[in-house]
Amino acid sequence: MKILKFGGTSVGSVENLQKVKEILTSDQDQKIVVCSAMSGVTDQLVTLLEYIKLKDAEAITRSLHRLESKHHDVIDQLIEATDLRNDLKEGVSQLITEMLEVSNQAFEESTEAIIVTYGETLLTYIFSNFLNATGVTNVLLDAKEFMYVDTVDNPNIKKVAEKLEVIIGQNPASIYITQGFVCKDHLEAIATLKRGGSDYTATIIGAALNADEVQIWTDIDGLHNNDPRYVEGTHPIAHLTYNEAAELAYFGAKILHPQTVSPVVDKDIPVLLKNTFDPAATGTVISNKVHKKGLKAISAKDNITAIKIKSNRMLMAHGYLRKIFEVFDHYKTSIDMITTSEIAISLTIDDTTHIEEIVKKIDAYAEVTVEENHSIICVVGESLINDKSSSRLFEILNYIPVRMISYGGSNNNISILVETKDKIPTLRFLNEKLFETSQAATL
Ligand code: ADP
Ligand code: ASP
Ligand code: MG
Repeated sequence: MKILKFGGTSVGSVENLQKVKEILTSDQDQKIVVCSAMSGVTDQLVTLLEYIKLKDAEAITRSLHRLESKHHDVIDQLIEATDLRNDLKEGVSQLITEMLEVSNQAFEESTEAIIVTYGETLLTYIFSNFLNATGVTNVLLDAKEFMYVDTVDNPNIKKVAEKLEVIIGQNPASIYITQGFVCKDHLEAIATLKRGGSDYTATIIGAALNADEVQIWTDIDGLHNNDPRYVEGTHPIAHLTYNEAAELAYFGAKILHPQTVSPVVDKDIPVLLKNTFDPAATGTVISNKVHKKGLKAISAKDNITAIKIKSNRMLMAHGYLRKIFEVFDHYKTSIDMITTSEIAISLTIDDTTHIEEIVKKIDAYAEVTVEENHSIICVVGESLINDKSSSRLFEILNYIPVRMISYGGSNNNISILVETKDKIPTLRFLNEKLFETSQAATL
């Protein structure tokens, strides 16, 4: 069994859906195919939610009408037989009516997830029917019937496995189509795996079914050594370890949802990153094999808040740090980077939901300064800190005001904190120093 996930661009047009069909039919392997919504649709649904909150009936109708036309257009182009075409358009219209009903009901905690996950429902409904109509027999699975994820960090793999095995046993097929992103939480309420979560859906299913491999099909030929949106001349990396991929995903490499690799690490199921528009390209294989030590890639994570905690008393005195960490723990706010001196601690967080309460508590015994709009730049590679050439990255100190540096926390990662306005120059500078200079060849 293989799990294949196709992202928003891959399923974002009729032409691309035809490409996905070719990939699915290129071998006879049994597969579960996880699909995202068509590109742009989830963003549209997030905007729709704003209209729902504002109770703006006109904007809601306009937005739903746009979604209906978009999906009707796809059906018009994909389906030749008039009867089926009309049936599918009717099916889409029914889903849109359901969305209108949810929009008109009182806004509840799960309304958000119910609405934003309709993009995946719409696309998989159309795509599964299109495949069946063109001779690619498949079974459409409703992910809400098996994707149990207690909290985003805690997928209930055992329950997913139990549910899926029953469903698959009752519906034997060689191709299954299902929705990414959507899940049920520990209260059985509809929830999401957060933006970009379809990658994570694929690895959760992979772990539950002990799949041979998970393939993540997207619009680029694998994970690159730097962010291709900001840096020219980046290249795909053929092999990454789970550690490297997890660090890069957590620290901002958009190609992977931050939690993607965690479900498959223990089971040692390889994750392949492949390009829907160039299936022959090698892509990236993520596994536990270390093919090459040393520097691999750089990524950046935005929306980081730096907090400096300064005290006149001896900060490092016994029990003081515990007192500070307990405040963050109480508000379930995780800390990414931390540096200390005798009188001050600097740390970073990305979830600022409880920042006011946290500051108020710590303010009682220390002076707290909060600085927003920072980015963590993360340099990654197995045994990176033993790689002498990595010292070249510290030349950044001559050019860019660096707020914090984290070195030695793990052997595989060196992180630096800069203001977000300096992110792109930092990524470019590090690219040149670490990958492009003549010495870089020896890395
Ligand atoms: P999908 O919709 O298929 O899930 P995403 O947009 O989430 O695709 O991820 C693919 C995009 O990630 C690429 O188009 C690329 O711009 C961006 N990206 C950011 N960092 C990297 C990186 N290090 N390597 C490859 N792609 C990256
Ligand atoms: N459609 C969702 C999003 O745009 C999930 C995904 O694409 O992975 O975030
Ligand atoms: Mg994605």
